Amino acid sequence: MDAIQVEELVRKVLAELNSQDLEPDSGSVLVGVSARHVHVTASHFAALFGEDADLARFKPLNGGQYASACQVALVSPSMKCIENVRILGPFRKETQVEISRSDARALKVDPPVRPSGVLDGTPGITLAGPHGSVTLTKGLIISNRHIHIPPSFANRLGLEENDFVECMMEGERKTVFCGVQIRVDPSFAPEMHIDTDDANSAGIIGKARAVILGKGADGHGARTHCGHCGCHKKSG
Ligand SMILES: [Zn+2]
Repeated sequence: MDAIQVEELVRKVLAELNSQDLEPDSGSVLVGVSARHVHVTASHFAALFGEDADLARFKPLNGGQYASACQVALVSPSMKCIENVRILGPFRKETQVEISRSDARALKVDPPVRPSGVLDGTPGITLAGPHGSVTLTKGLIISNRHIHIPPSFANRLGLEENDFVECMMEGERKTVFCGVQIRVDPSFAPEMHIDTDDANSAGIIGKARAVILGKGADGHGARTHCGHCGCHKKSG
């Protein structure tokens, strides 16, 4: 058993422990901070790293995803650049680049806040790898705040896929985040995902937890409505 397999096993056990009803009425979830990253199609990966390249595993993530050992540079139309942006696996049907608002300022681009996979009308950007580059016509987003939960957890809190909730961040600077999308799948361990800007604003360093307060009272509670991104589709 190699180090990656051990880590996957540990994560699986932790996910099971996390799913148990240790706190039956608690809507508390772990917070994971997502740094800027890229999801790629197999053909874009081949263009960036070569036909024989492998999207090698670096670290397992929630829901069967993993951080790969491969990194690219983001190059904006105004030739601003961010290097060493990690690619997540496995391959996707569409290439998607997730950055923070701070990254967007540095790159002089203006992507919208979107759920993962909702890419219509988003701007593109150029990816540069060791073998070649790919210029996307769309796919650059600021990922929305979202929480991955398994069905048992969702049922317990009366939540469904694509509900929007408010969350109290238990950070150094306690903060309530609104418009947090609920994503439900049996493969998910309960975990909230926010970007580095949100994490920094709430003073989150290392492990943190968030408490789901309930569906938003500001119009973000309805399952088919998202005032933050205009989207009501199921995300990928
Ligand atoms: Zn996520």
